[in-house]
Amino acid sequence: MAYNSWYECVRGCGRRYSIFEVVYRCEDCGGLLDVAHDLEPLQARSGAEWRALFEARTRTTEWPYGSGVWGKMEWVAPQIAPKNVVSMYEGHSNLFRARALGVKLGVPDLWVKLCGNSHTGSFKDLGMTVLVSAVKQMIAEGAPIKAVACASTGDTSAALAAYAASAGIPAIVLLPKGKVSIEQLIQPISNGAKVLSLDTDFDGCMRIVQQLTQEPEIYLANSMNSLRMEGQKTVGIEIIQQLDWQVPDWIVIPSGNLGNISALGKGLLMMKELGLIKRLPRLVAAQAAQAAPLYNSYQRGFDALEPVQAGKTLASAIQIGDPVSYERAVKALQAFDGVVEQATEDELANAAVQADQTGLYACPHTGVALAALEKLRAKGVIRESERVVVISTAHGLKFSRFKVDYHNRALAEVAERYANPPLELPADYETVRAAIG
Ligand SMILES: *Cc1c(COP(=O)(O)O)cnc(C)c1O
Ligand SMILES: [Zn+2]
Repeated sequence: MAYNSWYECVRGCGRRYSIFEVVYRCEDCGGLLDVAHDLEPLQARSGAEWRALFEARTRTTEWPYGSGVWGKMEWVAPQIAPKNVVSMYEGHSNLFRARALGVKLGVPDLWVKLCGNSHTGSFKDLGMTVLVSAVKQMIAEGAPIKAVACASTGDTSAALAAYAASAGIPAIVLLPKGKVSIEQLIQPISNGAKVLSLDTDFDGCMRIVQQLTQEPEIYLANSMNSLRMEGQKTVGIEIIQQLDWQVPDWIVIPSGNLGNISALGKGLLMMKELGLIKRLPRLVAAQAAQAAPLYNSYQRGFDALEPVQAGKTLASAIQIGDPVSYERAVKALQAFDGVVEQATEDELANAAVQADQTGLYACPHTGVALAALEKLRAKGVIRESERVVVISTAHGLKFSRFKVDYHNRALAEVAERYANPPLELPADYETVRAAIG
């Protein structure tokens, strides 16, 4: 039996579209579109058989299964022909027991999933490989697509530029001027994308890219386009695989536009439906207090999204006031008995550097997740005996300015509790010896 998937309207109006159609919202009701899979052919394999197949492909080289995403391609995008896959063997990022940090946070069974140990330094690679592969196949089949475009807080554009360059497809990226790190700015420039730095915030860039992609020649690569979520959903599957198929009690994830938490939930639900796991973890969406519309809505029992003007935050990749995947995220949080927590600038910065002092190199978003964990532990929501996985969404090396400013005690609104500035000394033995103490 052939595997199959299609777009389905999230509002339940019943309308379906091919995943190779250029469509981002339901033409009948305006709802977002999710990719749905025909479960029947997938059920022909038992949970144990799927686990064995995924294990057998892990870290092999056979195209395209060596990728953490394409090793699970029947669940992700079964209609994409292997010859159209654009992959740099993303995924399989390490999950490790952060013992020293766990002890500090009062959760000794703490694990960290380092999604930043990836081709462009963030989890965005997991989704972009799927989107760009679909575009490659669409072009091969005669679609008039001339370029792919996205608005970005820095990591989406880096991933899009790299995968598009690899596929030979032109990329256009819209960035909020001065609101992405220097490392994130130089990534798409290096990969040959057309980089447009706009005098606005992410939400402003998003509005313009939606207008640009009304033209069928320019294909939208933002997470409104749910092809990316199909790749990103492998993160939860991979975490559980790495835990020898044991389900943790909690997964904590930094959240902005809310695509990633929706994707995480989607992959985990699929595992349960197809018999790979028997229970679900609880999820924590961690937001920066400066940009916390989901947290605000959670406080009101998820009554409705009230978009906010996102304030400046060190966690710049989640500086988003009007999250596209709000409805999807609420569904996921409800299905997983989820919790939303927020972290101030002071909390997220200190949490990131505290983690560094146990050997990590945490980005500010990972700081948001760790601070949320610390707060939920203090409130007793998360218990000492529980197994917690924190998703580290990007590599700390993308945020050098944050680290430098922290250790120079130059951050507004942060009391730098762990600052470790270098000592500048004359090249004199006695002075050096005295400074070491
Ligand atoms: C994109 C991104 C996020 C947020 O993911 P959403 O899907 O927008 O919620 C978090 N951290 C980093 C580093 C990111 O690049
Ligand atoms: Zn609809």
